Amino acid sequence: MVNRNVSDVLYPPVVIAHINGTMENYFRWRVKNKKEVQIHYSSQPNGYPHLGTMTGLMTAFAIGEFIKEHFDLPSRILFEQLENAPGYKIERGGITYQLMLLDTPMRDTNKLDSYMDSFVDLMSWLSGETGIEYTIMSYKDFQEKPFVRSSLLEIMNRAEEFIPILNPKEGKLKIRFPCNECRYMDEDCETLKIEELRDNYARLSMKCFTHGTYEIEITPDNKEFVDFNTPIRNAIKERYFVEEAKKANALNLMVDGADWVGMGELMNHVLGLWGYGIEDLPTRIYTPLIEDWSGAKFSKSVYVKEGVYDYIPPYLMTYPELVNKYGEDGLTILLDETREWARDPKKLFRNYTVEYFKALFSEKLSN
Ligand SMILES: [Zn+2]
Repeated sequence: MVNRNVSDVLYPPVVIAHINGTMENYFRWRVKNKKEVQIHYSSQPNGYPHLGTMTGLMTAFAIGEFIKEHFDLPSRILFEQLENAPGYKIERGGITYQLMLLDTPMRDTNKLDSYMDSFVDLMSWLSGETGIEYTIMSYKDFQEKPFVRSSLLEIMNRAEEFIPILNPKEGKLKIRFPCNECRYMDEDCETLKIEELRDNYARLSMKCFTHGTYEIEITPDNKEFVDFNTPIRNAIKERYFVEEAKKANALNLMVDGADWVGMGELMNHVLGLWGYGIEDLPTRIYTPLIEDWSGAKFSKSVYVKEGVYDYIPPYLMTYPELVNKYGEDGLTILLDETREWARDPKKLFRNYTVEYFKALFSEKLSN
């Protein structure tokens, strides 16, 4: 393979970078008359933060730092912790049942805590470096909010309008809840029954393969745990943060990996169903995708386990391995890189390969 250097990297014209020239220009009209910036980043902590997660999260902090410095606006990160993501799956009678990360045993605790510690370490370090504060919102706290529950009930009552956008493939809403006894739940809602539904009230049942039928009630003010799939969660989250930003007169800034780029357009349609106009829509920044040699997303959940990334040095695989090998220097190399992205649209609005990071580390470490 040809040995390439970071200084050889090309930045071919990209329309959004061409129009703006600088990130000051990108943000200037968006932050006008705003009092603060609310930056949102979410993750399913189903593994240690890998290169894509680290650079995504670092870009969120770096953008906050950039806005604070250039516009003198307080910025903060709200990290949504998705402990409801699947941690373990089994099949019984042709139906897939899952345990949430929170309910999946690992070492002497559960999968959530086993991995979340690294996320917290990383965010604490980033907060110290950038001066940007962060808070963590768990999925449990999110679904307990009356606004979230009434939004869910509204989606259920207006299912015919929401389903074509949120789940055209299966044509149903995926709302589920764990068995009280064993915590397994039917992932694809094959056994879900809507027993009763009216404005601000739903009674649902599901079947556990061991413990039979069980039920929950959903009202805006009760707290019975309810899980819903990513498109529904995202739709409600978008609505919730639109309202939060309005209350605080804040710029509502969604930061996601570039693999989410198609989702933003869907969410704009969902916000439209709720009556929001263009002035209410969030600003969406998609952080560079970290790609393998073929341009495929470097994916922690699927492929890391299978050994397909054997050609990538371990320090570029996970946060603990990076820190073990290079300590704070390794983190600083990555943070400084994302700071470059945050200030220059031609560097932000593009993707990078794992090979690029190999070159970056060898260059920085040899200096
Ligand atoms: Zn059960």
